[in-house]
Amino acid sequence: MSASDLDALVEGIRAADRTALGRAITMVESRAPSDRRVAAELVDRLLVGAGGAHRVGITGAPGVGKSTFIDELGSRLTARGRRVAVIAVDPSSSISGGSILGDRTRMPRLSVDPAAFVRPSPSSGTLGGVTRTTREAMVVLEAAGHDVVLAETVGVGQSEIAVADMVDFFLVLLQPGAGDELQGIKKGVLELADMLVVNKADGDNTAAARAAARDYQAALRLLTPVDPDWSPPVLTCSGLTGDGLDAVWDQIELHRRRLTESGGWDRHRRDQRMRWMWSMVEAELLERVRRDPAVGSVTADVEAAVAAGELSPPLAATRILDALEDQGSSGP
Ligand code: GDP
Repeated sequence: MSASDLDALVEGIRAADRTALGRAITMVESRAPSDRRVAAELVDRLLVGAGGAHRVGITGAPGVGKSTFIDELGSRLTARGRRVAVIAVDPSSSISGGSILGDRTRMPRLSVDPAAFVRPSPSSGTLGGVTRTTREAMVVLEAAGHDVVLAETVGVGQSEIAVADMVDFFLVLLQPGAGDELQGIKKGVLELADMLVVNKADGDNTAAARAAARDYQAALRLLTPVDPDWSPPVLTCSGLTGDGLDAVWDQIELHRRRLTESGGWDRHRRDQRMRWMWSMVEAELLERVRRDPAVGSVTADVEAAVAAGELSPPLAATRILDALEDQGSSGP
């Protein structure tokens, strides 16, 4: 891409042009090395002046009501004059071949709302790849003037940990269920939560949802260390009727005010930027190792020796890295 094409793309994104947004997102999702370089430059250009959006991660098991909740919450926000972007983090789509998230039809109102942008889920990718593209897509969406970015993920894998590390606020959506209320949701996910919301608190479910909320409240007290800035509340709501959603958003705003006052907000973002950088270094190094011809020439032998139990994995790893370094030191 020429410098003037990049300028035009940056201009288009800043003007919230949907075609430019689509192109930029395709660019950050591309795995071609030439596109990677353009994407890195694009993100660098866009980062200046970006960062104003409120980034909220939403996780929950399939069927808990995420898309209904996001459609309703997002519509309420756009009705108040906010511009809302929704992105999905769904590495499972690379395994199942079909995505459970990010399908536009799951959010019928937001996907036709001119003040909203629902990013279709990337078709495939590893967790690392999806994490990278999601972070970059977030920068693109913020630069386009979205002031709320909702990042959705299924709470079944490692993806919620990745999402928690790229948002300001991490919301775990639950539903009242029979038996053990903590079933199906890992303790580790609860520890990441800035708020638990028991959804589907409507009709016959209302009492069960309240009871579940009490159980979660008790569980949280045992799990989470006391944070002077914020102790995660447990709320009930109904994405279907909209009951309780304003209270949910009020808490998210309250969290922002509290952390801004304490300095925790900036510190959190600074730490995230630092981890983002190092995760890029790790990913790129691994990619270089995989592509490297000198490494390629020893890999088969080393792997065979490890498979046969003749070479220990730690020593094998140094052989592979030595091949990379030898070549690097003899290079131009
Ligand atoms: P997701 O898989 O987490 O995105 O869940 P969906 O939003 O697709 O909802 C799964 C099912 O639960 C659908 O049949 C919804 O109609 C239903 N549902 C979603 N939200 C609510 C709610 O607040 N109350 C009730 N009673 N049902 C809901």
